[in-house]
Amino acid sequence: MVIVMESSASEEQIEQVIARLVEVGYDVHRSTGVSQTVLGAVGAPRQALDPRSLELLPGVREAVKISSPYKLVGRTFKSENTIVDVAGVPVGGPEVIVMAGPCSVETVDQVGAVARRVAVSGARLLRGGAFKPRTSPYAFQGHGEEALRWMRAAADESGLRVISEIMDPRQAEMMLRYVDCLQVGARNMQNFDLLRELGRLRRPVLLKRGLSATIEEWLLSAEYVLAGGNTQVILCERGIRTFESATRNTLDLSAIPVVKKLSHLPIVVDPSHGTGRRDKVIPMARAAVAAGADGLLIEVHNDPDRAWSDGAQSLYPEQFDTLMGELRVIAPVLGRSLPVARVPATLACNTGRA
Ligand code: PEP
Ligand code: MN
Repeated sequence: MVIVMESSASEEQIEQVIARLVEVGYDVHRSTGVSQTVLGAVGAPRQALDPRSLELLPGVREAVKISSPYKLVGRTFKSENTIVDVAGVPVGGPEVIVMAGPCSVETVDQVGAVARRVAVSGARLLRGGAFKPRTSPYAFQGHGEEALRWMRAAADESGLRVISEIMDPRQAEMMLRYVDCLQVGARNMQNFDLLRELGRLRRPVLLKRGLSATIEEWLLSAEYVLAGGNTQVILCERGIRTFESATRNTLDLSAIPVVKKLSHLPIVVDPSHGTGRRDKVIPMARAAVAAGADGLLIEVHNDPDRAWSDGAQSLYPEQFDTLMGELRVIAPVLGRSLPVARVPATLACNTGRA
């Protein structure tokens, strides 16, 4: 249930409504906006509360039973867009934020080289896998903590933030030492223990859409994180399984306007896993920005033909640079921009770009 207070409601009136909700067994999440306070009542109350009886309380404008099963991620609970702060990089604001890097972190030199290239082109986050969810148990599973150490150093050198995938709640404590944003992979979208753990943490989460998940299921997974108290969630569309076999997945760009209407959370698009081939990544990245995505997650490798995983869908650094230039033209049409590349002086000397 969502309770919208009058803009003139006093603190005492708000507290009275909260007390009534708590009394019957609801958990109450309060959103204090500029002009109005909205209360989200979640959980299973011991006693059913008629919204009309709540509307009789002083200071209540409207009490609405929400038919959608999620509440905290919905626009009814919070109408303004959420901007997720990834260690000073705002995702969901006017700037389109690009996260780029290799599928797997392979060597210290590889991740350093990719970081320098993507930073010069204007990426703000370095993405790379240290723990890899591979279909085959015999495929490269990632270098684990060592890879995170390399990534952190590479990102710091190039002025980037770090995003990497967490697969198990037991990795959380260690990962918090290295990463600014925790990625939940498509295969783990409904790993509820993991989502609950991420709800307890205060670190941004990028939640990928599951391989066969509906938008409602995806939003319910995000709800797990918010219900735990962590509001910093970025959704990521990465393609879904369909009957189509021409691409690795079917990138559902219509999810962007659908999610934008239903939820206040930012949404980014991963055209790399969404298409599986680098020649398809570029047009779909352009289309995602044109459709209103708040950012992109793109695989880039310094030597894609020798990549340990997902080489075919990884862009060459030059292709990535060209794409970023194109996005700088597209974004302003939508009233948005791409951040200017902030390259540390040490790197600017090496690249000749400032
Ligand atoms: C990845 O980002 O490298 C990855 C494994 O993606 P997904 O979970 O979307 O398959
Ligand atoms: Mn990959």
